[in-house]
Amino acid sequence: MSDPNCRYCTRTTDIVEIVADLEVSTLYITKDQAYRGRCILALKEHKTEVFQLSTAEVEAFGRDMAKASKAIYDAFSPDKINYAAYGDGYPHVHFHLVPKYKGGKSWGSPFDLSADPAGAVSPEELKGLIEQIKSKL
Ligand SMILES: [Zn+2]
Repeated sequence: MSDPNCRYCTRTTDIVEIVADLEVSTLYITKDQAYRGRCILALKEHKTEVFQLSTAEVEAFGRDMAKASKAIYDAFSPDKINYAAYGDGYPHVHFHLVPKYKGGKSWGSPFDLSADPAGAVSPEELKGLIEQIKSKL
């Protein structure tokens, strides 16, 4: 199932770029890099709640989550990766994968979801970050 009005179904790349397609999900990197290595893992199929996935899909999504978060960890060596899922604004199953660094932005607190101009990176720098993650997948 696909929703033509859904940013993840249409693979819209206004605030993200695609890193890679995984088993049942697509890994995106956010153009806001206030948290270096911040990504979003979105299910390929349009489903709005995790409980709508079959057991096999949940397992595959879990494998994708582990693979993506390990690649982010190996690429950027954060002190912790935060995992967040909301979906009020974009109700398509997706998780924010947010590397956190001791003493860095929002350490010990929830990450700042809103785009942060201070986190803007050049297209060339973003491409470099994508390559760093892809090399660890
Ligand atoms: Zn969708």
